[in-house]
Amino acid sequence: MNVLVVGGAGYIGSHAVRMLLDAGHKVHVFDNLSRGHRAAVPADLLIEGELTNRELLQQVLVDHQIEAVMHFAAFALVNESVNDPSLYYQNNVVAALSLMEAMRLADVKKFVFSSTTATYGEPERVPIRESTPQKPINPYGFTKLVIEQALADYAAAYGLGYAALRYFNAAGAHPDGSIGEDHDPESHLIPIVLQVALGQREKLTVFGDDYQTPDGTCVRDYVHVNDLADAHLKALEHLRPGAGLCLNLGTGRGTSVREIIEACRVVTGHPIPEQMGPRREGDPSELVADATKAKEVLGWTPRYTEIQSIVETAWRWHQSHPNGYASV
Ligand code: UDP
Repeated sequence: MNVLVVGGAGYIGSHAVRMLLDAGHKVHVFDNLSRGHRAAVPADLLIEGELTNRELLQQVLVDHQIEAVMHFAAFALVNESVNDPSLYYQNNVVAALSLMEAMRLADVKKFVFSSTTATYGEPERVPIRESTPQKPINPYGFTKLVIEQALADYAAAYGLGYAALRYFNAAGAHPDGSIGEDHDPESHLIPIVLQVALGQREKLTVFGDDYQTPDGTCVRDYVHVNDLADAHLKALEHLRPGAGLCLNLGTGRGTSVREIIEACRVVTGHPIPEQMGPRREGDPSELVADATKAKEVLGWTPRYTEIQSIVETAWRWHQSHPNGYASV
Protein backbone atom coordinates (compact mmCIF):
# COMPACT_ATOMS: atom_id res chain seq x y z
CA MET A 1 0.00 0.00 0.00
CA ASN A 2 1.15 3.59 -0.58
CA VAL A 3 1.21 5.07 2.91
CA LEU A 4 1.88 8.64 4.04
CA VAL A 5 3.23 8.71 7.58
CA VAL A 6 2.63 12.15 9.01
CA GLY A 7 4.98 12.79 11.91
CA GLY A 8 7.08 9.84 10.80
CA ALA A 9 10.27 11.47 12.11
CA GLY A 10 8.99 11.30 15.68
CA TYR A 11 9.31 8.57 18.29
CA ILE A 12 6.40 6.28 17.48
CA GLY A 13 6.11 7.36 13.84
CA SER A 14 9.71 6.41 13.05
CA HIS A 15 9.14 2.89 14.39
CA ALA A 16 5.98 2.59 12.29
CA VAL A 17 7.91 3.73 9.20
CA ARG A 18 10.54 1.06 9.79
CA MET A 19 7.90 -1.63 10.18
CA LEU A 20 5.91 -0.52 7.14
CA LEU A 21 9.07 -0.64 5.02
CA ASP A 22 9.99 -4.06 6.41
CA ALA A 23 6.49 -5.27 5.47
CA GLY A 24 6.96 -4.07 1.89
CA HIS A 25 4.74 -0.99 1.89
CA LYS A 26 5.66 2.12 -0.07
CA VAL A 27 6.18 4.89 2.46
CA HIS A 28 6.49 8.66 2.41
CA VAL A 29 7.03 10.72 5.53
CA PHE A 30 5.52 14.17 6.00
CA ASP A 31 7.05 16.06 8.92
CA ASN A 32 7.94 19.64 9.81
CA LEU A 33 10.77 18.39 12.07
CA SER A 34 9.58 20.67 14.89
CA ARG A 35 9.96 17.77 17.30
CA GLY A 36 10.94 14.96 14.98
CA HIS A 37 14.46 14.11 13.86
CA ARG A 38 15.85 14.09 10.35
CA ALA A 39 18.09 11.15 11.23
CA ALA A 40 15.12 9.04 12.36
CA VAL A 41 13.91 8.41 8.79
CA PRO A 42 15.54 7.51 5.47
CA ALA A 43 16.38 10.84 3.80
CA ASP A 44 14.77 9.98 0.46
CA LEU A 45 11.38 9.39 2.09
CA LEU A 46 11.12 12.71 3.91
CA ILE A 47 8.88 15.52 2.71
CA GLU A 48 9.25 18.59 4.90
CA GLY A 49 6.14 20.68 5.29
CA GLU A 50 3.39 22.07 7.49
CA LEU A 51 0.09 20.26 7.89
CA THR A 52 -1.71 23.57 7.64
CA ASN A 53 -0.39 23.86 4.06
CA ARG A 54 -3.36 22.00 2.68
CA GLU A 55 -2.50 22.56 -0.94
CA LEU A 56 0.94 21.01 -0.50
CA LEU A 57 -0.61 18.10 1.37
CA GLN A 58 -3.19 17.51 -1.29
CA GLN A 59 -0.46 17.55 -3.92
CA VAL A 60 1.61 15.05 -1.95
CA LEU A 61 -1.41 12.75 -1.57
CA VAL A 62 -2.17 12.89 -5.27
CA ASP A 63 1.40 12.81 -6.61
CA HIS A 64 2.33 9.74 -4.56
CA GLN A 65 -1.04 8.03 -5.04
CA ILE A 66 -1.42 7.73 -1.30
CA GLU A 67 -3.98 5.15 -0.22
CA ALA A 68 -3.68 5.50 3.55
CA VAL A 69 -2.42 8.03 6.07
CA MET A 70 -1.02 7.42 9.54
CA HIS A 71 -1.04 10.55 11.66
CA PHE A 72 1.55 10.77 14.44
CA ALA A 73 2.29 14.50 14.27
CA ALA A 74 0.90 15.75 17.56
CA PHE A 75 2.13 17.24 20.79
CA ALA A 76 1.65 14.88 23.70
CA LEU A 77 2.67 16.45 27.00
CA VAL A 78 -0.08 17.00 29.55
CA ASN A 79 1.73 19.75 31.47
CA GLU A 80 2.61 21.67 28.35
CA SER A 81 -0.99 21.45 27.15
CA VAL A 82 -2.20 22.99 30.40
CA ASN A 83 0.33 25.84 30.22
CA ASP A 84 0.01 26.48 26.49
CA PRO A 85 -3.34 25.17 25.22
CA SER A 86 -3.09 27.26 22.06
CA LEU A 87 -0.15 25.16 20.93
CA TYR A 88 -2.22 22.03 21.40
CA TYR A 89 -5.41 23.23 19.76
CA GLN A 90 -3.46 24.59 16.79
CA ASN A 91 -1.26 21.56 16.30
CA ASN A 92 -3.47 18.70 17.43
CA VAL A 93 -6.82 20.01 16.19
CA VAL A 94 -6.39 22.67 13.49
CA ALA A 95 -3.50 20.88 11.76
CA ALA A 96 -5.20 17.47 12.03
CA LEU A 97 -8.40 18.88 10.51
CA SER A 98 -6.35 20.36 7.69
CA LEU A 99 -4.92 16.91 7.03
CA MET A 100 -8.37 15.31 7.08
CA GLU A 101 -9.64 17.95 4.69
CA ALA A 102 -6.75 17.40 2.28
CA MET A 103 -7.51 13.68 2.41
CA ARG A 104 -11.19 14.28 1.74
CA LEU A 105 -10.40 16.45 -1.27
CA ALA A 106 -7.84 13.96 -2.57
CA ASP A 107 -10.24 11.09 -1.92
CA VAL A 108 -7.95 9.20 0.47
CA LYS A 109 -10.18 7.01 2.58
CA LYS A 110 -7.93 5.27 5.09
CA PHE A 111 -6.67 6.92 8.23
CA VAL A 112 -4.91 5.61 11.32
CA PHE A 113 -4.95 8.13 14.13
CA SER A 114 -2.82 8.27 17.28
CA SER A 115 -5.21 8.71 20.14
CA THR A 116 -4.50 8.32 23.81
CA THR A 117 -5.48 7.08 27.20
CA ALA A 118 -5.62 10.78 28.17
CA THR A 119 -9.06 10.89 26.50
CA TYR A 120 -10.36 8.84 29.46
CA GLY A 121 -9.22 11.35 32.09
CA GLU A 122 -9.34 9.88 35.59
CA PRO A 123 -11.24 6.63 34.94
CA GLU A 124 -13.56 5.30 37.61
CA ARG A 125 -12.43 1.75 36.97
CA VAL A 126 -9.33 -0.01 35.68
CA PRO A 127 -8.57 -1.81 33.47
CA ILE A 128 -9.93 0.68 30.99
CA ARG A 129 -12.16 -0.59 28.22
CA GLU A 130 -13.04 1.29 25.04
CA SER A 131 -16.54 1.74 26.46
CA THR A 132 -15.15 3.54 29.53
CA PRO A 133 -16.51 7.11 29.36
CA GLN A 134 -14.09 9.54 27.73
CA LYS A 135 -13.82 12.53 30.04
CA PRO A 136 -10.47 14.21 29.48
CA ILE A 137 -9.09 16.35 32.27
CA ASN A 138 -6.54 18.37 30.31
CA PRO A 139 -6.28 20.14 26.93
CA TYR A 140 -4.13 17.35 25.47
CA GLY A 141 -6.85 14.77 26.11
CA PHE A 142 -9.53 17.13 24.77
CA THR A 143 -7.65 17.79 21.52
CA LYS A 144 -7.42 14.06 20.83
CA LEU A 145 -11.07 13.50 21.66
CA VAL A 146 -12.12 16.32 19.30
CA ILE A 147 -10.36 14.56 16.44
CA GLU A 148 -11.86 11.18 17.36
CA GLN A 149 -15.27 12.83 17.09
CA ALA A 150 -14.41 14.54 13.80
CA LEU A 151 -13.27 11.18 12.41
CA ALA A 152 -16.56 9.56 13.36
CA ASP A 153 -18.43 12.37 11.59
CA TYR A 154 -16.22 12.15 8.49
CA ALA A 155 -16.74 8.38 8.41
CA ALA A 156 -20.52 8.76 8.54
CA ALA A 157 -20.72 11.58 6.00
CA TYR A 158 -17.81 10.98 3.63
CA GLY A 159 -17.08 7.29 3.92
CA LEU A 160 -13.72 7.65 5.66
CA GLY A 161 -12.41 4.40 7.16
CA TYR A 162 -10.42 5.07 10.31
CA ALA A 163 -8.83 3.59 13.37
CA ALA A 164 -8.31 5.65 16.52
CA LEU A 165 -5.63 3.85 18.48
CA ARG A 166 -5.59 4.84 22.12
CA TYR A 167 -2.04 4.34 23.30
CA PHE A 168 -1.16 3.76 26.89
CA ASN A 169 2.50 4.57 27.80
CA ALA A 170 4.72 4.09 24.77
CA ALA A 171 8.14 2.82 25.84
CA GLY A 172 11.30 1.12 24.60
CA ALA A 173 13.12 1.39 21.30
CA HIS A 174 13.81 -0.64 18.20
CA PRO A 175 15.76 -3.71 19.38
CA ASP A 176 18.58 -2.98 16.94
CA GLY A 177 19.26 0.27 18.83
CA SER A 178 19.16 2.46 15.72
CA ILE A 179 16.03 4.50 16.50
CA GLY A 180 14.49 5.44 19.82
CA GLU A 181 13.05 8.11 22.07
CA ASP A 182 14.57 11.61 21.97
CA HIS A 183 12.62 14.52 23.44
CA ASP A 184 14.00 17.90 24.39
CA PRO A 185 13.39 18.54 27.20
CA GLU A 186 12.80 14.94 28.27
CA SER A 187 9.90 14.46 30.67
CA HIS A 188 9.12 10.75 30.38
CA LEU A 189 9.97 8.38 33.18
CA ILE A 190 12.04 5.65 31.51
CA PRO A 191 14.35 7.96 29.50
CA ILE A 192 14.88 10.10 32.59
CA VAL A 193 15.79 7.09 34.74
CA LEU A 194 18.19 5.89 32.04
CA GLN A 195 19.76 9.36 31.85
CA VAL A 196 20.51 8.99 35.55
CA ALA A 197 22.12 5.62 34.79
CA LEU A 198 24.21 7.29 32.09
CA GLY A 199 25.39 9.92 34.58
CA GLN A 200 23.62 12.73 32.71
CA ARG A 201 21.38 13.43 35.68
CA GLU A 202 22.28 13.16 39.32
CA LYS A 203 19.03 11.58 40.45
CA LEU A 204 15.42 10.97 39.70
CA THR A 205 12.48 12.66 41.40
CA VAL A 206 9.52 10.36 42.04
CA PHE A 207 6.34 12.37 41.68
CA GLY A 208 4.46 11.25 44.76
CA ASP A 209 4.17 8.05 46.79
CA ASP A 210 0.82 8.69 48.43
CA TYR A 211 -1.41 7.32 45.66
CA GLN A 212 -3.95 4.56 46.30
CA THR A 213 -1.72 1.97 44.61
CA PRO A 214 0.15 -1.04 46.03
CA ASP A 215 3.42 0.87 46.59
CA GLY A 216 1.97 4.39 46.60
CA THR A 217 3.47 5.43 43.26
CA CYS A 218 1.55 5.85 40.00
CA VAL A 219 0.81 2.78 37.92
CA ARG A 220 0.96 2.86 34.13
CA ASP A 221 0.68 0.36 31.31
CA TYR A 222 3.99 0.54 29.40
CA VAL A 223 3.66 -0.80 25.88
CA HIS A 224 6.60 -1.32 23.55
CA VAL A 225 6.84 1.11 20.65
CA ASN A 226 7.26 -1.75 18.15
CA ASP A 227 4.11 -3.38 19.47
CA LEU A 228 2.33 -0.07 18.86
CA ALA A 229 3.76 0.06 15.34
CA ASP A 230 2.61 -3.50 14.74
CA ALA A 231 -0.95 -2.56 15.77
CA HIS A 232 -0.87 0.25 13.20
CA LEU A 233 0.02 -2.16 10.43
CA LYS A 234 -2.71 -4.52 11.50
CA ALA A 235 -5.23 -1.68 11.72
CA LEU A 236 -4.29 -0.57 8.21
CA GLU A 237 -5.33 -3.94 6.82
CA HIS A 238 -8.58 -3.73 8.71
CA LEU A 239 -9.88 -0.34 7.58
CA ARG A 240 -13.17 -0.27 5.69
CA PRO A 241 -14.83 2.77 4.08
CA GLY A 242 -17.29 4.48 6.39
CA ALA A 243 -16.30 2.41 9.43
CA GLY A 244 -14.46 3.50 12.55
CA LEU A 245 -12.47 1.43 14.96
CA CYS A 246 -11.43 2.67 18.42
CA LEU A 247 -8.94 0.45 20.20
CA ASN A 248 -6.91 0.53 23.39
CA LEU A 249 -3.27 -0.42 22.95
CA GLY A 250 -1.65 -1.59 26.13
CA THR A 251 -0.33 -4.79 27.65
CA GLY A 252 -2.97 -5.05 30.34
CA ARG A 253 -0.22 -5.03 32.98
CA GLY A 254 0.33 -2.15 35.34
CA THR A 255 3.83 -1.16 36.46
CA SER A 256 4.49 1.36 39.22
CA VAL A 257 7.13 4.10 39.14
CA ARG A 258 9.07 2.15 41.76
CA GLU A 259 8.95 -1.01 39.66
CA ILE A 260 10.25 0.92 36.66
CA ILE A 261 13.19 2.24 38.67
CA GLU A 262 13.91 -1.26 39.96
CA ALA A 263 13.80 -2.74 36.44
CA CYS A 264 16.20 -0.01 35.28
CA ARG A 265 18.56 -0.84 38.15
CA VAL A 266 18.61 -4.49 37.13
CA VAL A 267 19.11 -3.74 33.43
CA THR A 268 21.76 -1.04 33.83
CA GLY A 269 23.52 -2.23 37.00
CA HIS A 270 23.46 1.38 38.19
CA PRO A 271 22.17 2.28 41.70
CA ILE A 272 19.98 5.11 40.27
CA PRO A 273 19.62 7.53 43.19
CA GLU A 274 16.11 8.86 43.70
CA GLN A 275 14.32 11.43 45.81
CA MET A 276 10.68 11.80 46.66
CA GLY A 277 8.88 14.83 45.31
CA PRO A 278 5.32 16.12 45.29
CA ARG A 279 2.68 14.75 42.96
CA ARG A 280 2.76 16.05 39.40
CA GLU A 281 -0.45 17.89 38.66
CA GLY A 282 -2.91 16.01 36.49
CA ASP A 283 -1.38 12.54 36.98
CA PRO A 284 -4.10 9.88 37.38
CA SER A 285 -3.10 7.20 39.89
CA GLU A 286 -3.57 4.16 37.68
CA LEU A 287 -3.98 3.71 33.93
CA VAL A 288 -4.05 0.14 32.68
CA ALA A 289 -5.58 -1.06 29.44
CA ASP A 290 -8.07 -3.76 28.77
CA ALA A 291 -6.81 -4.48 25.26
CA THR A 292 -9.08 -7.44 24.61
CA LYS A 293 -10.76 -5.67 21.71
CA ALA A 294 -7.49 -5.09 19.83
CA LYS A 295 -6.76 -8.77 20.22
CA GLU A 296 -10.22 -9.83 19.06
CA VAL A 297 -10.51 -7.40 16.16
CA LEU A 298 -6.93 -7.17 14.92
CA GLY A 299 -5.42 -10.33 16.33
CA TRP A 300 -2.90 -8.01 18.04
CA THR A 301 -1.00 -9.20 21.07
CA PRO A 302 2.00 -7.31 22.40
CA ARG A 303 5.25 -9.25 22.12
CA TYR A 304 6.91 -7.34 24.94
CA THR A 305 5.03 -8.29 28.07
CA GLU A 306 7.86 -7.94 30.61
CA ILE A 307 8.89 -4.46 31.65
CA GLN A 308 12.52 -5.56 31.87
CA SER A 309 12.64 -6.52 28.20
CA ILE A 310 11.12 -3.16 27.26
CA VAL A 311 13.71 -1.33 29.36
CA GLU A 312 16.50 -3.42 27.78
CA THR A 313 15.63 -2.09 24.33
CA ALA A 314 15.46 1.48 25.64
CA TRP A 315 18.84 1.05 27.36
CA ARG A 316 20.44 -0.20 24.15
CA TRP A 317 19.25 2.95 22.37
CA HIS A 318 20.29 5.36 25.14
CA GLN A 319 23.71 3.74 25.58
CA SER A 320 24.50 3.91 21.88
CA HIS A 321 22.94 7.40 21.52
CA PRO A 322 23.66 9.20 24.81
CA ASN A 323 22.68 12.50 23.18
CA GLY A 324 19.82 11.08 21.17
CA TYR A 325 19.89 11.80 17.45
CA ALA A 326 22.58 14.44 18.05
CA SER A 327 24.88 11.42 18.58
CA VAL A 328 24.27 10.18 15.02
N1 UDP B 1 7.32 10.28 36.74
C1 UDP B 1 8.12 10.47 37.86
N2 UDP B 1 9.27 11.18 37.72
C2 UDP B 1 9.68 11.73 36.54
C3 UDP B 1 8.87 11.51 35.39
C4 UDP B 1 7.69 10.79 35.54
O1 UDP B 1 7.79 10.01 38.97
O2 UDP B 1 10.73 12.39 36.50
C5 UDP B 1 6.07 9.50 36.86
C6 UDP B 1 4.82 10.28 36.48
O3 UDP B 1 4.31 10.94 37.60
C7 UDP B 1 3.91 9.16 36.00
C8 UDP B 1 4.85 8.12 35.43
O4 UDP B 1 6.14 8.44 35.92
O5 UDP B 1 3.22 8.58 37.08
C9 UDP B 1 4.90 8.12 33.90
O6 UDP B 1 5.12 9.45 33.48
P1 UDP B 1 5.46 9.81 31.98
O7 UDP B 1 5.69 11.30 31.93
O8 UDP B 1 6.57 8.94 31.50
O9 UDP B 1 4.18 9.40 31.17
P2 UDP B 1 2.63 9.86 31.31
O10 UDP B 1 2.00 8.81 32.18
O11 UDP B 1 2.60 11.22 31.92
O12 UDP B 1 2.14 9.83 29.92
